[in-house]
Amino acid sequence: MTIERFATAPYQTHCQTRVTAIDGQLLSLAETVFYAMGGGQPGDTGYIEFADGERTAIIDTRRAAGTREIQHHLAPEGRMPHTDEEITVHLDWERRYAHMRIHTALHLLTAVLPYGVTGGSVASQSGRLDFDAGDAVLDKDAIEAALNQLIEQAIPVETRWVSGDELAARPELIKTMSVKPPMGLPQVRLVDIAGTDLQPCGGTHVANTREIGPIKVLKLENKGARNRRVTIGF
Ligand SMILES: [Zn+2]
Repeated sequence: MTIERFATAPYQTHCQTRVTAIDGQLLSLAETVFYAMGGGQPGDTGYIEFADGERTAIIDTRRAAGTREIQHHLAPEGRMPHTDEEITVHLDWERRYAHMRIHTALHLLTAVLPYGVTGGSVASQSGRLDFDAGDAVLDKDAIEAALNQLIEQAIPVETRWVSGDELAARPELIKTMSVKPPMGLPQVRLVDIAGTDLQPCGGTHVANTREIGPIKVLKLENKGARNRRVTIGF
């Protein structure tokens, strides 16, 4: 199993590691700082650096189908490492940090809008959530003001681990109706934005809400009778 540095050290931009398996252009590593696509957040990109300084681009990071194994997708034209080779992997940090800011802003959005979440996605400049909002009428300016107020309060964002049983005893923590967090795992990661939002999440977040910076509500859309899509961005 790959050691997943992004889960405990989201600000780490690179790591030295060893190639454990290669399947075509798909690279598995002993440890990685690359977030694998999931929970609406894209997989990380960047490059591997060989001992002699040569680089090969990593164009995506995903978990192998049906498993938790992380595979780094290498650019087809690049030099390939061999199994057991020692390399360094470097994130496209600007892109990843933008994902961290948008992702954390979406947590705040679930605090502003207390409805069940039916879907969502994160990109570098924007992100969106779909809410099962019934016949509620949403106010773009009010949502934007509430979000920016939470951002300016510089609230710490912390993660901690709980047992699967502990989470099962508190189903109210699960806001996402369509994408249930993996149940039955011995440990589940909780993201705690003090006094504002607490939910299980495997994504990457900033350490303090002020790092998000000013956010706009870009779009409100009706997606079906009860579904409201809210798009936010920089
Ligand atoms: Zn999250």
